[in-house]
Amino acid sequence: MLEYDRISELVPTGVWIDGAAAAAASEATFPVRNPATGEVLTEVADASGADALRALDSACRAQTAWAATAPRERAVILRRAWEILMERTEEIALLMTLEMGKTLAEARGEVAYGGEFLRWFSEEAVRIGGRYTDSPAGTGRILVTRQPVGPCLAITPWNFPLAMGSRKIGPALAAGCTVIVKPAEDTPLTMLALARVFADAGLPAGVLSIVPGSDAAAITAPLLADPRLRKVTFTGSTRVGKLLLRQAADNVLRTSMELGGNAPFIVFEDADLDAALAGAMAAKMRNGGEACTAANRIYVHNSIREQFASRLAEQIGALRVGPGYEPGVDTGPLINQRQRDSVAALVQDAVAAGAVIRTGGKAIDGPGWFFQPTVLDDVPRTARMHREEIFGPVAAIYGFDTEDEVVAAANDTEYGLAAYFYTRDLDRVLRVSNALQAGMVGVNRGVISDPAAPFGGIKQSGLGTEGGSEGIDEYLDTKYVALTR
Ligand code: NAD
Repeated sequence: MLEYDRISELVPTGVWIDGAAAAAASEATFPVRNPATGEVLTEVADASGADALRALDSACRAQTAWAATAPRERAVILRRAWEILMERTEEIALLMTLEMGKTLAEARGEVAYGGEFLRWFSEEAVRIGGRYTDSPAGTGRILVTRQPVGPCLAITPWNFPLAMGSRKIGPALAAGCTVIVKPAEDTPLTMLALARVFADAGLPAGVLSIVPGSDAAAITAPLLADPRLRKVTFTGSTRVGKLLLRQAADNVLRTSMELGGNAPFIVFEDADLDAALAGAMAAKMRNGGEACTAANRIYVHNSIREQFASRLAEQIGALRVGPGYEPGVDTGPLINQRQRDSVAALVQDAVAAGAVIRTGGKAIDGPGWFFQPTVLDDVPRTARMHREEIFGPVAAIYGFDTEDEVVAAANDTEYGLAAYFYTRDLDRVLRVSNALQAGMVGVNRGVISDPAAPFGGIKQSGLGTEGGSEGIDEYLDTKYVALTR
């Protein structure tokens, strides 16, 4: 049923440098596995620091010419890449399902969503502007221009193998930067398939490189230490983000950090309950719960909590679990054993603290890394999952009585990525969306990501934004030219 042979046709399984796939300098490879079975899908070149530096050499050779291309030309290449990606939706979605585990329907959704960053930034490439003004004293003229920051390193996670890369590559290329991508070790294939898409779209060699590998730090450390690199853009855990920020300090690199989340999802007593349930299903179960924007803490007003919890348990308990490429499956496996064990440990900890299991609660015996879709009710706020990302199909419900109490609880976290709430009261909409400490707030909706909107977190969820008209600023330096009158 699975067309393994198609993988080698679609995906260059080498290090992608200078517009072609090559073996790693060491000739080493590492296996990429199907999380639904544990089987090896294919072997991929295992890049080292030497390969990374070759990619940087290539990026530096391409940088000046790429920065000098007409914005319209960059726009046309990005647009063409989007069109080719859309033509390859089925193949790339299957590839993503095979290496990451999400259902085919969700993988198709990610190809559409991830591709949209190429189309959106093809449209933004021609709108990079500056400004001109006279100095207030009348003694000079002020010219402000924007220039590409230069070669960028993009480090991406496994949960959205395409979109977390295209959200960086799109604006970087639009701005005139070259990019070296270090994809997550669990999911390098989708990004390699994207490299081929760009090559077919006419992207000049060297502008985009991909360095897959099993030892992330061995690849990234030499790049971060090299003064030719000008920026690091990262999506992943807060722990690794902090490590990278420390390394970036040595060369005073531009940085963008999309880090972890601990999103509150608040259902007030006046909410439309059907809408709130649909929103909770989306905000919790999208991508099997492996999303930085996932509803990590579901706060439900105590007057409606029993009704909400039993209906959510009914819906989550009815989800069909299985390999994402099988028809009728609603939710796939977790990415690997480590992730499944981590989810299981968080559930055990919450239950030991007094949480009530409404459905699920256990890992499913192998092969593959499956976990039962789970609803926990009345979770004590002392449970670890109140502070830590669950990153799995586990809905944790907490009761509350007052708006002040729930807003304080929602903000009681070092994270500040997404937050959601449901109410029909307009005053409350304005008050609560203002009070929540988050970079993104969903009001009466459980899905907020939109390529046309700025995506990003505050507090320890990150620095900077991706997408929207703001996203390209992350790849542009501001230059002021002083002129006499
Ligand atoms: P991770 O931090 O373990 O890994 C992310 C990437 O960093 C991978 O490519 C990995 O190989 C690399 N990496 C790991 N250690 C490194 C090191 N020492 N030096 C350099 N690179 C290193 O995260 P993950 O488990 O792949 O992804 C899950 C995390 O990502 C969650 O915390 C989630 O919230 C976060 N995430 C955030 C966003 C966002 O936009 N804010 C989006 C998706 C995921």
